[in-house]
Amino acid sequence: MIDEHIAALLAYAGRLDSRVRRTLADPAQSARTIADWTAALADVPATLPDTGWDASHAVRRYYEQRNNDRSAQFRAVEPHDVLAAWAPHRGELMNRHTDPVPAADPDDPEAWREELLGTRAAVAHGHMPPAQYRAEINTAGQKRLASLMSGVGRGPRRYMPAEVAEQLADYRPTRAAREAAVAAGLPDAYAHKCSWCGAAPDEPCRTGYRRHGKGRGHRATPHPCRTDTAARAAEQDEDEQQRLARLMSTPPAPRETRARHTSGGAHR
Ligand SMILES: [Zn+2]
Repeated sequence: MIDEHIAALLAYAGRLDSRVRRTLADPAQSARTIADWTAALADVPATLPDTGWDASHAVRRYYEQRNNDRSAQFRAVEPHDVLAAWAPHRGELMNRHTDPVPAADPDDPEAWREELLGTRAAVAHGHMPPAQYRAEINTAGQKRLASLMSGVGRGPRRYMPAEVAEQLADYRPTRAAREAAVAAGLPDAYAHKCSWCGAAPDEPCRTGYRRHGKGRGHRATPHPCRTDTAARAAEQDEDEQQRLARLMSTPPAPRETRARHTSGGAHR
């Protein structure tokens, strides 16, 4: 803030506090006060419309006596009250700031560094709004990204464009077969361990019987026992789901009534 800003700020404080008003009434004392404030608050901007900073708000907040702070009853506002309000705001700005790529020649490290530091200082002093690349990846964006990425590398879900998967199908028959099975609504055999060859979940079944798995090849199809395991698990899931659905849709009924209903052979 420069002299003009400080004079306006003190005039505003004078409207709230008669002690400030009295100080400003005397020309010599007024000039001294403005010089002191200007020196103390040279690095604090008057307003930053983009980020919601306004030095006069800091002054008003001091007189609002928030959080049971009764200082305003005992002394008028001082530069350090504005500094105390600015510091967290500046910290917040720097937190949001992501260094933009300098326009300087990268082969000139000194110029490069100077530009980086200059941009940071400009943000810290409120001459520039923070460059916010991080805002693009906010919490909602991160969640969306995480859900998109959850299928990458494993699991039955395809995570590449359909046409790419189609082109690659010849080179990854296991994966293609798995996707086809899941798309057809069949149980996903690869979600389970193979009890025949010992292949771990998501791993293809192995051929041959050599010790320690050395030199054993991959099968394009899962062993039948693995498919059976998946089918059994799917059946159990379905049974459990149906049981739950029945439970949820059965209205609470008096004991005799329910007994009559269930004894009618409606069981499956
Ligand atoms: Zn197997």
